[in-house]
Amino acid sequence: MGEAGLEPRLLESAPRRSNVVARIPGTDPAAPALLVHGHLDVVPADPAMWSTHPFSGEVREGVVWGRGAIDMKNAVAMAVAVARHWARTGRRPRRDTVLAFTADEEASAAYGAQWLVRTHPELFAGCTEAVGESGGHTEHVRAPDGRTVRLYPVAAGERGTAWLRLWASGTAGHGSRPNSDNAVQAVAAAVARIGEHRWPHRLTPLTRAAITEIGAAVGVKADLDAPGFDPDRDLPGVLDRLGEAAALVRGTVRESANPTMLNAGYKVNVIPSDAGAGVDGRVLPGGRESFEAAMDELTGPRVGWEYEHSSPALESPVEAPVFAAMRAALLAFDPSGHVVPVCMAGGTDAKQFSELGIAGYGFTPLLMPPGLDRDAMFHGVDERVPVEALRFGVRVLDRFLSTVE
Ligand SMILES: [Zn+2]
Repeated sequence: MGEAGLEPRLLESAPRRSNVVARIPGTDPAAPALLVHGHLDVVPADPAMWSTHPFSGEVREGVVWGRGAIDMKNAVAMAVAVARHWARTGRRPRRDTVLAFTADEEASAAYGAQWLVRTHPELFAGCTEAVGESGGHTEHVRAPDGRTVRLYPVAAGERGTAWLRLWASGTAGHGSRPNSDNAVQAVAAAVARIGEHRWPHRLTPLTRAAITEIGAAVGVKADLDAPGFDPDRDLPGVLDRLGEAAALVRGTVRESANPTMLNAGYKVNVIPSDAGAGVDGRVLPGGRESFEAAMDELTGPRVGWEYEHSSPALESPVEAPVFAAMRAALLAFDPSGHVVPVCMAGGTDAKQFSELGIAGYGFTPLLMPPGLDRDAMFHGVDERVPVEALRFGVRVLDRFLSTVE
């Protein structure tokens, strides 16, 4: 980035945990700044499973292969390409544009975005919105009338994270003896209740907008404001009518809590005194209180629970100039596509930057060809991205960053 006339700062939160931040000065000093962030770390990859070495970055028949090709060195590379292009051609955006490339997103962000936000908030001075991971890519979906429609979901929110630890204590003893105070049994019963719980459907302003706009794109009228509309009773039917496109919203119309870990015991004929479990909970904006009440009830008096990790749900406005600029930039290069707002089921670094009051959007534009399953690329074997997908992304990103009000 130095060769592009920028003065990037390399900030190490710990040895080999590098974060890079640079600010491109805008032409209008009175305008708020815009943050573009992406994470530099990747999850591991086993070369034995791959068709090419996962860390080779090989380009084969117009496709870049390697860990991070989608998640998410692609986005970092596109942002740098735009910055270098601006430097070569002497262009500058209207708003200050802060580029932040982070460590540790695939873990807890403690060495990455969270550390940056807590120790160097001045780097983000003036930033009001951020664009980052996930969104703005092509989803080819079959509409109920048989047409294939290209949707570009842009994330305007994320469910909150609620990773829980459950525990119970009981009376230890011999496995052959009667025992009415068995910790394993208590935790197992709570885990089964949580797994079977049917979380009520809820609509937030964002999921409401998502369903309405996706419906319009695939030719289905989703009348969420019909008199007497009851999300729990009526929403599953609306989603069914959306067909394939419902996959973009199905995971974000209610809370979820999936049991993921069990720990207890050390020998089959010994009843242990303690047992524990882990649960991955995700919470919609405004749902924290009811989620906690449900968890109290599901665990019951016999089993305790606490947060192992908790982070807030996000919801950024869809009726905003930033969203309009993302929509226009995508449509400029795919005029017959449809840009739709969505909520993400999981979380990204946007949660960390929200601590500074920055409204986050998921926007990593890519023209994905039909048949290449982008979702399967995340943390998957043979992660790859077509060069043409990146070219489209760079053009869209350039247009967005150059035009955003
Ligand atoms: Zn990622």
